[in-house]
Amino acid sequence: MAYRHIRMPDDGQRITVRDNRLEVPDNPVLGYIEGDGIGPDITRAAMRVWDAAVAQAYDGKRRIHWCEVFMGEKAAGLYDGDYFPEESLEAIRDLVVAIKGPLTTPVGEGFRSLNVSLRQQLDLYACVRPVRHYTGVPSPLREPEKVDVVIFRENTEDVYAGIEYQSGSEENRRLADFLRDDLGARFFDDAGLGVKPISPYASKRLVRKAIEYAIEHGRESVTLVHKGNIMKYTEGSFRNWGYELAREEFRDRTVTEDELYELHGGKVPEGRIVIKDRIADIIFQLMLLRPEEFDVIATMNLNGDYLSDAVAAQVGGIGIAPGANMGDNVAVFEATHGTAPKYANQDKVNPGSLLFSGLDMLEYIGWKEAADLVRAAYQDVVRAGIVTYDFARQMEGAREVPTSAFADALIERMRGGTDPEAMREERRRRIEQERGERERRRMQEPVEEMLASGRKPTTVGHIMSRKLVTIAGDASVDEAMQLMRRKGISSLLVRPGNGEGWGIMTHRDVLSRVMQANRNSAEVRVREITSRPLLKVDSDCPLSECVESMMKHNVRRLVVERDGEITGIATESDLMQSVEQFGWVRAE
Ligand code: NAP
Repeated sequence: MAYRHIRMPDDGQRITVRDNRLEVPDNPVLGYIEGDGIGPDITRAAMRVWDAAVAQAYDGKRRIHWCEVFMGEKAAGLYDGDYFPEESLEAIRDLVVAIKGPLTTPVGEGFRSLNVSLRQQLDLYACVRPVRHYTGVPSPLREPEKVDVVIFRENTEDVYAGIEYQSGSEENRRLADFLRDDLGARFFDDAGLGVKPISPYASKRLVRKAIEYAIEHGRESVTLVHKGNIMKYTEGSFRNWGYELAREEFRDRTVTEDELYELHGGKVPEGRIVIKDRIADIIFQLMLLRPEEFDVIATMNLNGDYLSDAVAAQVGGIGIAPGANMGDNVAVFEATHGTAPKYANQDKVNPGSLLFSGLDMLEYIGWKEAADLVRAAYQDVVRAGIVTYDFARQMEGAREVPTSAFADALIERMRGGTDPEAMREERRRRIEQERGERERRRMQEPVEEMLASGRKPTTVGHIMSRKLVTIAGDASVDEAMQLMRRKGISSLLVRPGNGEGWGIMTHRDVLSRVMQANRNSAEVRVREITSRPLLKVDSDCPLSECVESMMKHNVRRLVVERDGEITGIATESDLMQSVEQFGWVRAE
């Protein structure tokens, strides 16, 4: 396509996509949109740093060829008032990878946010926000280094889909009538109405991207964040579709949190990613108290919007939080803050958000070494107290420098010799140590771990005890009693034998069938007082059904099985303990 104002560099080569994989030449053309307000200041500074890093990391063998693409105010000046020229969209599609500064959304009727339009037009369905801490960056947390999470926010639906009807409008009245008359819905008069569409298609492609990312980057888990306890058919379905996708497409690479406890005793099997879910409100607390438990998060549009800014604020704020919007074959990296017009052209603001987005872009095209050089230099420079105004006001003894001087300091630090390998090693060691510690807790204190990690037990598999102590039917009741005392338990599973299957023998059986019957416990065989067949429930059995079954059969414990294998035992006291700790979730 011949462009009107866009000039493709002659000596660069385009990135292409083959079989869903990027093919990146050593001289790729990357698109950039300078942005409005502070956009030009931060873009100029960041580009100098990226270019310097690439030159140094690859001894000049690789080089980015930049192609300017126009949007926002600069575009309006060039394209007769058009803020969102069609050819700019076309160029980004063509180039496959681009980066953009912040854009002003013109105020007034009929103007859609340019950012929203860009996402929709290019079907950039995943908003990806990596949030991690860099030593020296001011943070309100005591241990900010534990924050290292990548949030995948669904970008195309939810309450952001724009299906809204203003109070008092004709459409609103018709929809309200339909909801009340045909569907029996109840709500106050004159309520504004909005629709929250959540589809299996959009949910699954988002979760797929998150899982692929987790696998590719050696992450430990993907957490589905939702408010499914309240919005069952939208947020609850998102969660269900997420698990379904993991099961259908990544069966050999994933394990659910339930399976982790029930089948693997809390130990993550080699090469697997844990798929778990958390309710949206508790995740905010957990991200403050136990951020190290979260690696990759996949969530819907609104949750993701709140969560990504909140988490970014924990480790330096929006001035340095990077982001990207990704589709299947196009990715646009971006500064996540706005145009901060009061600082425009003052060479003052923090270039961090755009800078780090560019580093994610370098990693995305496989140029990790260049990205790491900058990350290591960044840490050194900030630790030395050389920062822009926003950090300077939070740090004691810092030296405030302009945007361009901050970029100079980074470049100088890279050239002066920085040690990306030491930084990588430090991070790897910390992650390994944290994972080991979590694994130990999951294996040794599963219930405490559940309590602390925001899970609520809903099935018998969540509360059962995995301590399965067995005895042969031929053993004496005396031996059985000694074994129970040693293990601190009140029942034993009786192993199959003499043509009989598994059974159970309890303290109560000893009382009623040996002592009450005035028999000698040394002479009675366990087999004689064993109850058979076992009363079993599946580990997925909801707690309410489990209680019902105990009452109906007048027993105090149930044997739990999964796929035909006995995996645990759930007693009245396990149930009571769960109710005391977590409250009782009534059946619907
Ligand atoms: P904003 O531009 O993000 O600025 C809000 C405040 O955040 C600034 O006043 C400043 O705080 C701080 N800040 C932002 N970027 C910073 C940086 N690089 N370094 C240091 N501090 C930074 O938000 P806004 O004022 O609400 O929005 C202004 C315009 O941006 C609007 O037209 C909006 O539509 C647009 N916008 C665009 C995008 C985008 O393109 N992705 C995103 C959001 C908003 P202090 O005042 O405390 O110094």
